[in-house]
Amino acid sequence: MTPTDVTHVMTTNFYAPPSAIRAGRVVLPEDEARHLRTVLRGEQGDEMTVVDGHGGWYRARIDHVGDEQVVGTVVERRRNVGEPAIDATVALGLLKKRTRFETFVEKAVELGVRRIVPLRTSRAERASIREERLRNVMVAAMKQCRRSRLPALAAPQSTADLLAESGGDVRLVCHAGDASVPIQRAMGQAGPAASALVLVGPEGGFAPSEVEAARANGCTPVSLGPRRLRAETAGLAALHAVVDAHQNG
Ligand code: SAH
Repeated sequence: MTPTDVTHVMTTNFYAPPSAIRAGRVVLPEDEARHLRTVLRGEQGDEMTVVDGHGGWYRARIDHVGDEQVVGTVVERRRNVGEPAIDATVALGLLKKRTRFETFVEKAVELGVRRIVPLRTSRAERASIREERLRNVMVAAMKQCRRSRLPALAAPQSTADLLAESGGDVRLVCHAGDASVPIQRAMGQAGPAASALVLVGPEGGFAPSEVEAARANGCTPVSLGPRRLRAETAGLAALHAVVDAHQNG
């Protein structure tokens, strides 16, 4: 083989919505196309992997690299590449520092979360999120960690609304209290579950009435170990325990 015969394979995943993938053809959105052309120096004949954020995963051959458009032909398609078996929702109390919530969001996507709910708790100091910014963080993390679903980001809501409106075969509230069981034990006792809902408090923790409301609504109080974790760490540790209990290989 001469060097020109070697097909360059793009190692980063690209994102294109389902509407951009039709009849075996992929058209990358403008920003993704520009990234491929200017940063990664992708060329006609190269291969790229594209995910649609809804579980679709495609390997495609690049047919055309234009200034603002990249078009490819699908050569292989799969479903749910990189997705965990369990549909996990983590509801985390809104935090004083936006950057900590952003860190949580990025890492939670990597660990396989399916839905993130910013919680308005009685001790939370903030009521809003920067939705656009968090969505960008989520898309970048989805591509980077090579999963194929873009998790949902809910609007901020109260603990009471969350408990009333969310499902979850397994429902857990992270709480460092005497009545709490280790999260691994709670997951083991719950047996096979398709979905999980995990509540994590803000810096100041949950008010006792919120823990009570969670219990009254079917949440098991769980412990994450002997150390008091920062809220965003607690959210990630709990998510990992839930996903790990239901690995799909
Ligand atoms: N000052 C608070 C601690 C808040 S830590 C208090 O004393 O209650 C933020 C959140 O992380 C908590 O509300 C809880 O949901 C979770 N968390 C932190 N460490 C934990 C642990 N060891 N076990 C269970 N939950 C924990």
